[in-house]
Parts: sequence; structure tokens; C-alpha cells
Amino acid sequence: MKELTLYNWIIEHDPDATLKTYRMIESGCADTCLCASCKHYSKFRKNYLNEHATQILLKLGIDKTKEAEVYFTGDHKSFDGQFKVWFHFIGSIKSITDINHSSDSTYIKLTNTSMVSISELCEMPNPIFNRLKILQISFILLTDGSNMHI
Ligand SMILES: [Zn+2]
Repeated sequence: MKELTLYNWIIEHDPDATLKTYRMIESGCADTCLCASCKHYSKFRKNYLNEHATQILLKLGIDKTKEAEVYFTGDHKSFDGQFKVWFHFIGSIKSITDINHSSDSTYIKLTNTSMVSISELCEMPNPIFNRLKILQISFILLTDGSNMHI
């Protein structure tokens, strides 16, 4: 287990084991679901997951194309709104540096259009993580026309 400080969270994680686990996952939610918002996210994933988010995922051993879940809230025609996307990885929270922002719903601003949160509450993890101690990293990605062009 390696210790890593990510914004508010001091975690212990195992990036090698996480990486190995992701190799066994066939594909991400957005690539298998046929709903309009998943198709949209799948197409523009690389625009939505900015460099900051990508670097964090890389550090944790997470394959950014294999999200556990993604959903959109906003205008389903223009895709003006926000995506919430999350991933799981092997690890645990050691401590939270800002006790005023220690609830599961706390998000830290990453960029003007993105926020990140780490939580012990894991929603719909891939069964492959069964019996492993995992955490959830979630991103809120605001959409504006500019990230919808390849
Ligand atoms: Zn979908």
C-alpha cells in the first residue's frame, strides 16, 4: 500500500493491484450503455476528463475509459449541464485534512469545469472488486459547448 495525498484526502492505495484489476474489466459503462447521455459521454470522454482528472486516475492505476457509472443532469438536447462519473480503486482513507469538509458529498474544485471527491461509499462497483477494500473517486464535469468538439 502506498500513501498518497489528494487534495483533502490522505489515502492508502495499491495502484499495481488496481491496474491489474482494470485489465480484467472489459469496458466502461459509457461504452456499453446505449442511452443518449452515455453515447455522448463515450464520444467526448477525452474532452470531459481534463488533464487534471486524467493524471489523478493514472496515479491511482485506473483506466479512464472504464468508468463504473456515468450520468448526465441537464438539457438532454444540447448537453448543457453536468456529467457525474465515478471509478473504484483499491485503497482506504487514512485521514481527511479538512474536517469541515469530511462528508461523503464533499467535492473539491479541480478546474473551473470540474470537481473531484473521494469516498468510502461505493456505488455499483464492478463485481471484480468483490471482497477487496475499495474507494470511489467521483468527478463532476460541467459541460459547455467548448468540450464537445474533437
Ligand atoms: Zn446510459
